[in-house]
Amino acid sequence: MNITEKAKNIIDNCRFCWMCRHICPIGNATGLERNTARARAMGASLVVHGSTELKEIASNVYECTLCGACTNNCMTGFDPKVFIQELKTEIVLNGLAPDYIVKLLENYQASGNVFNATACSCLDQLCSNDSDTLFFAGQDAIYKAPESVKTAIALLKDAGVSVSFNKDQDSGSALWFLTGKTAETQNAFKNSAKALNGYKTVIVYDPVDLSLMRHEYKECGIEITANLISFNEYLYSLIESGKIVVKKSNNEYSLQDNYAYARELDDVTTGRKLIEKVGVVKDMLLIGKEANLAGQLVMAEYMPDVMTQVAKDRWFNAKNMDCKTIVTENPAEYVALKATCPDGYRVISIEEMIKENM
Ligand code: SF4
Ligand code: SF4
Repeated sequence: MNITEKAKNIIDNCRFCWMCRHICPIGNATGLERNTARARAMGASLVVHGSTELKEIASNVYECTLCGACTNNCMTGFDPKVFIQELKTEIVLNGLAPDYIVKLLENYQASGNVFNATACSCLDQLCSNDSDTLFFAGQDAIYKAPESVKTAIALLKDAGVSVSFNKDQDSGSALWFLTGKTAETQNAFKNSAKALNGYKTVIVYDPVDLSLMRHEYKECGIEITANLISFNEYLYSLIESGKIVVKKSNNEYSLQDNYAYARELDDVTTGRKLIEKVGVVKDMLLIGKEANLAGQLVMAEYMPDVMTQVAKDRWFNAKNMDCKTIVTENPAEYVALKATCPDGYRVISIEEMIKENM
């Protein structure tokens, strides 16, 4: 099997402290030992050492969100993303992917997105290429949360910022998630980079996309010459410069830290600074680098019940802390939390929070 020494070391470096057992959002949702990070690595170890077949662990490999919560809590620096993504590549190249993964890949080939969806016509009026600043919404937002795209671009427009936008934006995140670093994924990265590099500045709405652009593209030797900036940071700069004028209130907002911001982009502060501009930060359990995932839209296509439970578990935390308004930083968590929102609570996106305080 074609797997790197780095991945093999990660698989076999465990000291069995079982910290990762407590933190995994999937393990907590299913209650199954197989969904812990350590158990997944043990399965991988059996394959690497020739005691079981790769096809036996294929479905388990696809039960990880790559959220990195286990890595954050592991004393050994265990990073399942490394071996999981390498295993996915092996699984796909050897024709061992579960049928539901094959279906998503067929969707991608047929329609350009794994959801087999058509972008909402409500986004048509936003499409333009008149500015050297691109608003990169990404596929999750375009196909699953178009209202967020509209609100975000409208907010920028209110601040006097005109942006280019199109509905074909694909960072390669879904292919990366489903197949690891295959040639197809790297092609998607290259095509995305080429499109991004046609602009001076790119405002990246989804931190999961931004993390890929900053880290995985580089790993593949793909250079980004455009100035990439997160939507959170861009919004904050507009408020600081007075282009967006907000009112401070006593409204309490609880940030749903996105794992990509918190762990991969090392930014747990900008979301909170935005809240402080308009209200009061009310933190809930599992904040900052301890962030617990609330939604992953590709996995919701093949594990809908589990992903619903993941979002409900997040609401359980919020209710324990009496966090009435959760503010999301990425479209996947916005969609998942909205679909499971209990009576008396609400979820809003970061741009909706700013808008309601202007
Ligand atoms: S937290 Fe790390 S060392 Fe502890 S059981 Fe999990 S993988 Fe092993
Ligand atoms: S990366 Fe996240 S989903 Fe995957 S095993 Fe670790 S904690 Fe669980």
